[in-house]
Amino acid sequence: MNHTYQELADLIFPEVKQTIEDLEKEYPERNLPKESEVTRFAPSPTGFLHTGSLFTSLVAYTVAKQSGGVFYTRLEDTDQKREIEGSGKQLIDQLKEFNLAPSEGYLGDEEKGSYGPYIQSKRSEIYKVVIKWLISIGRAYPCFCTAEDLNELRLTQEANRVIPGYYGEYAKCRYLSVDEAYERIQKGEKFVIRFKSQGDHTKYIRIHDEVRGDLDLPENDQDIVIYKSDGLPTYHFAHLVDDHFMHTTVVTRGEEWISSLPIHVELFEACNFRRPKYAHLPVIMKLDNGNKRKLSKRKDPEAAVSYFLELGYPVEGIIKYLMTIANSNFEEWLIANPNKDISEFHFSFSKMSLDGALFDLPKLENICKETLAYYSKEKISKEAYAYAKKYSPELKDLIERDFDKFESIMNIERGGEKPRKDYTKYSDIYSHIAFFYEDKYLELVKQNSFEFNPHISNDLTISILEEFKSTNDYSLNEQDWFSSLKALGERHNFVAQFKLYKKNPEAYNGHVGDVANMLRVALTTSSRSPNLFNILHILTKEEINKRIDLAISYLKGEN
Ligand code: GLU
Repeated sequence: MNHTYQELADLIFPEVKQTIEDLEKEYPERNLPKESEVTRFAPSPTGFLHTGSLFTSLVAYTVAKQSGGVFYTRLEDTDQKREIEGSGKQLIDQLKEFNLAPSEGYLGDEEKGSYGPYIQSKRSEIYKVVIKWLISIGRAYPCFCTAEDLNELRLTQEANRVIPGYYGEYAKCRYLSVDEAYERIQKGEKFVIRFKSQGDHTKYIRIHDEVRGDLDLPENDQDIVIYKSDGLPTYHFAHLVDDHFMHTTVVTRGEEWISSLPIHVELFEACNFRRPKYAHLPVIMKLDNGNKRKLSKRKDPEAAVSYFLELGYPVEGIIKYLMTIANSNFEEWLIANPNKDISEFHFSFSKMSLDGALFDLPKLENICKETLAYYSKEKISKEAYAYAKKYSPELKDLIERDFDKFESIMNIERGGEKPRKDYTKYSDIYSHIAFFYEDKYLELVKQNSFEFNPHISNDLTISILEEFKSTNDYSLNEQDWFSSLKALGERHNFVAQFKLYKKNPEAYNGHVGDVANMLRVALTTSSRSPNLFNILHILTKEEINKRIDLAISYLKGEN
């Protein structure tokens, strides 16, 4: 018997009738302008959205968007042993929370687009067409090696101190005759399909990377497995077929894939597929005791994007921060254009730093703080409410009591040229604003009591508070009101000008700041609070008087 490669291919995949040409017709070139890029996010459903993957997705999304192209998602679930139930949908949902929603692909609940299916486990018919063809031309072959065979091979290679793997003379099954392979399959022996490499690892190939420029890498010579005994292909093969038929133009992925690039390049050539461009992005690192290391899923809570969502860091702030890692000129642009939408920034691969990007939490927090400070009261209130509904029942409760009141609180010292910068994240809000609500204020009084200045006598404080209660004019504007506060202080020998007080502190009981502080403490329990005038206009007069009475009875030692 003299079986041909084609007969071997037919024996292995008798059900496969389609050809690569049929597939090319089914998935024709996309109808896009020449400069448009098609990018993808291709996660494996093996866990949460990693901060590094968010970064890669942001770059992929931006590149597609600014070139008028397409950003799509594909679920790479061929390693079904590692799959975590529900994580595919979770990954996409989290991506959407960062406003990086794909316009095509696997969207969590559904699939959208004409290049699907977008879930690899549903694409096995497509992979088989290409694998069958590779077998028929002698570029792929069945391998019958068992786990024990491979283990033995590894031990031999270790003993001989040669590069490990299935290649060259060690690739036992590549030397089986077609007839022998044919017979063993007919007998029902188990097998996988391997790619027959023609490479030589002592030679180098040059591959261009959009971020790194030209890379010189040793050729691949490994006969990698492309089709497993479970009927699914491996990542190397599957992603390549998908990127081809989905017409990806730039593959953006982590730099950990650079070492596999020669395999992919050889596979693309063997399949006669045009290679996409590559952009291998830096891995996000962390400084740990002075040493740089990768963000670790196990050790670093900030490795998961859920960390930021649960604490309520504004999505816009996180995206801006990641952009500062993506492009070195972004920060300068941001400072010059604080109010522009970041989609107006032109991203470029050439401005990406090559060193592992260092994750800098204080910097991220600073950007988030700036971002929140410049939100309108409507925007911050709406976003905080959306956050509270998901993650903070106690904040949700306060907001739902009276949305207008919440908005007025969020409006304190907002909108001017120098807005107040007291929130880094939505989870900071509750403790800052709780005192505005009667029951929470009473809890604070119980917990912390009142932080009155111990250097001012209680009697003096009481008389000022009493006088404030009976004389304060709520109709005054801020400036006039402050003058009235100064006058009140002066009647009790608290000087209006701090400078005068400093020159001669013995001559006075204090200065107007001390007077404001008495009120602040009575109304909020603490000597740190936002603008007093605003507080006086958010609380009702009745609430204010009740609080002052409570503070006075405390000063009198009555409670
Ligand atoms: N599924 C691969 C991963 O989870 C994707 C790599 C790629 O983007 O090609 O990392």
